[in-house]
Amino acid sequence: MKNIMFIAPPAAGKGTQAEMITAKYNIPHISTGDILREIAKEDSEIGNYVAETMASGKLVKDEITYQLIEDRLSREDCKNGFIIDGFPRNLDQAIEYDKILAKLGYEIGNVFLLNISTKTLEKRITGRRVCEDCNAIYNINDTAKAPQVESVCDKCGGKLYQRKDDNLESFQTRFAMYQEKTEPIIEHYRKQNVLHEIDSNHEFDEVFRQIDEIISKN
Ligand code: AMP
Repeated sequence: MKNIMFIAPPAAGKGTQAEMITAKYNIPHISTGDILREIAKEDSEIGNYVAETMASGKLVKDEITYQLIEDRLSREDCKNGFIIDGFPRNLDQAIEYDKILAKLGYEIGNVFLLNISTKTLEKRITGRRVCEDCNAIYNINDTAKAPQVESVCDKCGGKLYQRKDDNLESFQTRFAMYQEKTEPIIEHYRKQNVLHEIDSNHEFDEVFRQIDEIISKN
């Protein structure tokens, strides 16, 4: 199956869609945000730098992301396809990603751009909760995505937490970062004819239906 990439503003649902694709097609979900959140737990210079930068809503230095992406994509489980979520986040990263893919002999695959209104984003960002053990994503502002028991993961029983950067102040910075740094990469993929635009204002299942219609064809 073709590789999959998401481009979307914060809390647009890319993590949730990636989870749904992984469940159906059994390919790994590689989220730079998840990997960086693990690094942020380390009590080291890099751990502290990543934790502070993420909490502020700004992007961490490009160089940190390149090595972790290349290492992760080199693993055996990526050979039959993978989902990349949260990378590339700017044009330099997109150009470096093309090089990493060429080096590993992979194709870009399908790139999904999730379009969504700011109002919906604000609602999602304040309601998002994440499992500290398995990273499953919930939303307490959406009955279809709320956990069955408050603060407990339906999948593994882990404790749910609210991300430090999931507040309106950090959201403003993250959204501004998206518009300034990430949106320019859209053109990069449109030119390569790999871009699919998806209306993400709908329920998660409907968004998945639109995405799956494309994935299942190739
Ligand atoms: P996410 O989980 O994708 O919303 O990412 C959360 C935060 O991790 C971002 O706001 C950035 O601080 C950092 N981050 C994730 N991916 C990248 C990336 N590709 N480049 C730089 N920073 C990133």
